[in-house]
Order: sequence, then structure tokens, then C-alpha cells
Amino acid sequence: MINYSNIKNFVIISHIDHGKSTLADRFLEITGTVPKDKMEEQFLDMMDLEKERGITIKMQPVRMEYKGYILNLVDTPGHVDFSYEVSRSLAAVEGAVLLVDAVQGVQAQTLANLELAKKQDLVVIPVINKIDLPNARTQEVKKEIGDILNLSHSEILEISAKQGVNIEKVLEKIIKEVPSPKVEGDDFRALIFDSKYDSYKGVVAYVRVIEGEVVREEEIYLMASQTKSKIKELGYFKPQLCAQSKLSAGEIGYIATGIKEPDKVRVGDTITKLKIKNEKLKIDVQPLAGYREPKPVVFVSVYPENADKYNLLRDSLNKLKLNDAALFFEPEHKEIFGQGFRCGFLGSLHLEIIIERLRREFNINLIVFSPSVIYKIIDKQNNENLIYSSADWPEASFIQEVQEPFVKLEIITFSDYLGSLMKIIDDLKGEYASTDYLGPQKIILTYYASLREVISGFYDKLMAVTQGYASMNYEALGYRSADLVKIEILIAGRKEEAFSKIVNKEKAYKEAKKFLLKIKESLPAQQFSVALQGVVNEKIIARENIRARGKDVIAPLYGGDYTRKRKLLEKQKKGKKELKEKGKVNIPTEIYLKVLR
Ligand code: GDP
Ligand code: MG
Repeated sequence: MINYSNIKNFVIISHIDHGKSTLADRFLEITGTVPKDKMEEQFLDMMDLEKERGITIKMQPVRMEYKGYILNLVDTPGHVDFSYEVSRSLAAVEGAVLLVDAVQGVQAQTLANLELAKKQDLVVIPVINKIDLPNARTQEVKKEIGDILNLSHSEILEISAKQGVNIEKVLEKIIKEVPSPKVEGDDFRALIFDSKYDSYKGVVAYVRVIEGEVVREEEIYLMASQTKSKIKELGYFKPQLCAQSKLSAGEIGYIATGIKEPDKVRVGDTITKLKIKNEKLKIDVQPLAGYREPKPVVFVSVYPENADKYNLLRDSLNKLKLNDAALFFEPEHKEIFGQGFRCGFLGSLHLEIIIERLRREFNINLIVFSPSVIYKIIDKQNNENLIYSSADWPEASFIQEVQEPFVKLEIITFSDYLGSLMKIIDDLKGEYASTDYLGPQKIILTYYASLREVISGFYDKLMAVTQGYASMNYEALGYRSADLVKIEILIAGRKEEAFSKIVNKEKAYKEAKKFLLKIKESLPAQQFSVALQGVVNEKIIARENIRARGKDVIAPLYGGDYTRKRKLLEKQKKGKKELKEKGKVNIPTEIYLKVLR
């Protein structure tokens, strides 16, 4: 019999890079969950991409034992685009360690994740990490945390996850302050908070058992998808799957459902036991409150460079979707590119990560179009049209009004950077909302701005002007009217739809010029000169020219014979003319990627 008061379920939340995965490593060591010789850095970041970039993309649960307690930790990603993952882990636990970097202090995701934790009524344990760094601002950061949590300073732990200083104190505080799971009934109910696909075991559901218990080979019922199945295996995360004979109330573990259709095991669904009475399904328990469906906000068209790879692309997207419920895609067709997909993402980092995984894990060369938000175009008949890609932008004569999504943008930085920040903020063409103060040195700036501007490189600019000492977060505000136009790019007279872009009308010339220069820089010289043109509403608003590559055909003929030289030059001229008539500039995929970045 499991004693529920011995179970403590918690997450570590923080801004990206504040040390969650490193602290989790120390927990795994101290509790002896992973033997010393098997330990490697960022143990819970299991994807190569995660290790390389040093960021957590997938949450990874792990069960530890310490001083007679069972501690279930769910490591979470810290970046804004993955807050959907964070909110799911929060629903499976009772407490949160709020980790704050002693140099960076409170950042945008610290606040955003703290908000999520408060909404779930979690007990929050604030901890300052990286106190070993020479430029640690431990005392100021205490004031920043004090400001947001209304806490006295003595309640905030100071640790170094890297050097292993004060780690036991964190574990002890978790044991003391995080409440044990409250269990009301004893009818088995479990919340699915994640899943992964296994070709032998079927979909493996990651669950928090809310009440009751379940044993191997029992028959289960998934309430929302109305699916029956028989458990193939169940158990704990160590962090690898470790089979057990049963799972009980309060525990976090996995249930291998044997179900082969991923759609049937939905995150947020409730698993109960299958009950049959008089040969009929008997449902006598309430489903648990699920999660809100994630809504993609950024869309791109993705095409295989080689049309033969279409099926591979479809299968790969399906596989990625298995453990990324937020990924959206649907088939699409474009004249020049053939069959591809329109994919939707939670933000631009989410997009970047998925595209990189497609390339790396599935080895597909891709043509990726400019990311787009969802525009609303009101036509002359007053109908509302949703536009997901610049390729579908209608002609000017069709448009009565254009609307685009706006966000509330929050930027946290040191007040010293305010001056240089104003320049890039002006460029956003947003609307100022407020300035708040955080501790002695920091400010929170709030703006209303278009999502389109925020996702097109604003984060990189922010990092550049603040030397990385800034962070941002945004949330949707709804649609606003905007004066937007579509820039089209012609290369050697041919429209390159992949390069089309929606911009503010007043910025059209500047943007077109910038874009043409970027193409000019990236495109290898051809044997003939190539005209680059930026077009808005059929009018050329900007142009550039790439000079022909001067291949020196007469160099081998040093000395004498002028007629032979002339003949060769004429032959070359004729060849170039033929080439130009064919008029096709081959644009390698790398160039698309470079220019669109
Ligand atoms: P996460 O994004 O919150 O999971 O952060 P990570 O655990 O990946 O850590 C981010 C970076 O901070 C890594 O380079 C770690 O080595 C480093 N780091 C983590 N904790 C400490 C610490 O206590 N002291 C120092 N100096 N560096 C740390
Ligand atoms: Mg991490």
C-alpha cells in the first residue's frame, strides 16, 4: 500500500538557461536515480538537438527516491514557444521550484511561468541559482524576486547547481512545503499529460494518476476519444521506462496503451477502467478537466525540394506530431513546388526547431516559405477571408480592409539599455502601454504590437542591442486594422513566390531594397546579368542587378591570333544570349533558406 503523504510531485520552472536541467542532474545524482558512471550533463535533454543547443524542448518526467519520499520531477522547457508544454506539466504536480539566475535575475519567462504556476495553485519555492558566478547579483535578484512574490529575503534559497552547493536544501524544502497529492475517490482516473509512440507498445501515455489504481493487462477506456484498450505495460520513469505491476493514486508514470492510432490518445484526456454492465459500456466517473487546445499562430508552407520525398515528409510530420501536440499541418499544393504542407506553430522558435528536426532526423531537403501570421481580409462584399500565406494574398481591387493579429509584448531589461532599445521599438510601429520597475535596476516595458513584426527578427534585434540582457514574452490581443501590402520579388523577370512578403505599406520600399540586397549577396553570379525587382501592386518599387560572371574564355590564348579571340568571345556572347532566353535562374535551396532567414 502506497502512502500518499510520501509522494511529492513538482516541476522546475524558470526562464531559459537559468539552470533547470543542471539542477535536475544534481537531483538525479544525490538521489542515486542515475548511477554516477551513467551520468552525463543535461541528462534529461534526450534529443541531440536539445544537447547541442543546450535547451529543453520536451518535458521529461523522472521518479526519484530520497529519505523515504518519492519525488516525481517533471523537467520543463523555458522558452516562450513551449509554454504549452509547461502548462501541461503544471497540471500534473503540486509544487514548483522557481529557479532564477543570479546574474540575469527575473526575466520574461520567469514571470510568465510563475503566472501559470499560480493559476494552478501550486506551491512556489523560489531559488537563486549560479551564485558561484563572479558577477552574480544575488542580493539585487533577491529584491526582484521579493517584488514579484511578496516574500521576505530569508525564504529564498541560494544555490549553485553546477557546483552542487545547497542542493539538499532544495530537496528538503520540497519535502517540507510541497503538499502531498490529495486523493478523493477510489475509482481509477488518470490525466494524460504527454505521450510518445512506440512501434511495439503502441502509444505510451504519460499520466498522473488522480485516484484509484490500475494493474498490468487491465482494460481501460479513454473518455474523450471513446477508445477501449488493454494495458500492455505500465510503470515509472527512471527516467527510462521501468515496468511495474501497478500504478496508484498520486503517482506519475506511463501506461503503454497498445493503441496504434496516435489520434486516439489525446493529451488532456482521462483514462478510466473499462466497465461493462449487461454487455453495455458503463460510464460512472467524470472526466478530468483537460487542457486548452494549443492554437498555432505562425504558419509556413513547407515543400520537399525533391517531389519524390513528399511521402517521407508526410510520415515525418506525423511522427513529430506524436510528441508535439501543438504541431499543426495540412496538405497544400503550389504550382511550381507541387505537393507540400501548410504547417502551423506556436511561435518562431517552435518553427525553427521543427524544420531543423525534419532536416536532421529525417534527412529531407526542404523549401520553407516566409512565415506568416493569419491575416483577415474584408473584401468589397464585406466577407471575411482568412489568409495563411502571402501566396494567397488577393489583388488590391478585392480588398476593403486588412486586419492582423496584435500581441501584448512584455520586455524585461536593465534600465541602462532603455536608450538603445527605443530605436528598435520605434521600428515595431507598436503602441506604448506602460513601464514598471522590478528591483533596483530593472524595468518591464509593455507594448501593443503586431505579431508579424514581433516574429520577424525582433528577438534577435533585442538581444543585439542589450548584449543579451533582455527577455520578452507576448500574448495574443486579437485583431487590429492595418495598412499592409504584399511585396513580390522578380528574379530575371520571373516571380519567386517563396520570397513574397507582407509588410507595412510605409515600410515597403525599405523592406524591398533590403531584401533585394540580401538576394544579391546570396545568389551566385550567373553567366548573364540578372535583374532583381521588388514589386507592389504590379508597380516596380525597387531594383538591383547581379552582374554576369565574367568567365575569361580568351585567357588560355596568350599572344597573337586576334581572329580566334574574337570568335571565342562571340561564341560566349551567343551562349549567354541563349541562356538568358531560357531565362531560368536556378536558386539552390540554401539560398532560399539564407534569404528567408
Ligand atoms: P535550462 O535551460 O534552465 O535547463 O538551463 P541549463 O541547465 O541547460 O543551464 C544553462 C547553462 O547554465 C548551462 O551552460 C549550465 O552549465 C549553466 N549553469 C547551470 N547552473 C549553473 C550554476 O550554478 N553555475 C554556473 N556557473 N553555471 C550554471
Ligand atoms: Mg533545460
